[in-house]
Amino acid sequence: MLSADFLHLEEDVEMVNRYADLFHLDVMDGTFVPNISFGFPVIEAIAQKAKKPMDVHLMIVHPEKYIERFAQVGAQMISFHLEAARADGSDPAAILRAIRGLGVQAGLVINPDVPVEDLYPYLEEVDFLLIMSVFAGFGGQKFIEDTYGRIRTLKAEIDRRGLRIPIEVDGGVSPANAAELARCGAEILVAGSSVFKAEDRAAAIAAMR
Ligand code: ZN
Repeated sequence: MLSADFLHLEEDVEMVNRYADLFHLDVMDGTFVPNISFGFPVIEAIAQKAKKPMDVHLMIVHPEKYIERFAQVGAQMISFHLEAARADGSDPAAILRAIRGLGVQAGLVINPDVPVEDLYPYLEEVDFLLIMSVFAGFGGQKFIEDTYGRIRTLKAEIDRRGLRIPIEVDGGVSPANAAELARCGAEILVAGSSVFKAEDRAAAIAAMR
């Protein structure tokens, strides 16, 4: 939704309701990432019209302070960055349990420079994993090709443990790389610019499906 037209947000919400599976909401605090995106008033407005689940991606320090509020406004999925928890000195597993305790699906995110192996200690605690295919903080960045191998490695470890954890990919996702991402094991594709800037948004989503 970061790529949506905020002057015509309702139209863009209806477009997602009609063609996509999830509302992916990028929340940035200007501290964990240099940028600031949107907060509760915008998310509450989207929630009023959203007929698909809201997936909140927190790019913020101290995510544990806000998870209850995001659950209250209707998030069905909440993810936070492993790097943020580490920088805060907080226990990622405890935050994941707190999210699940609110009846919300809990996800852990890593930027492209964090080895996927760093997620392994938390595989039993997550409902999904989010692999950034660009650096968190800005929309419209170019997809990083290493992402394919990272997803394959992570998917192999999930399968080896007999777990069922969807892998989500975020950043520069488009009809050009969707098929290869799916082949590597990604199940949730976050597409911003490639949908919202497309002349035919329904066709862009259909192409990725
Ligand atoms: Zn995101």
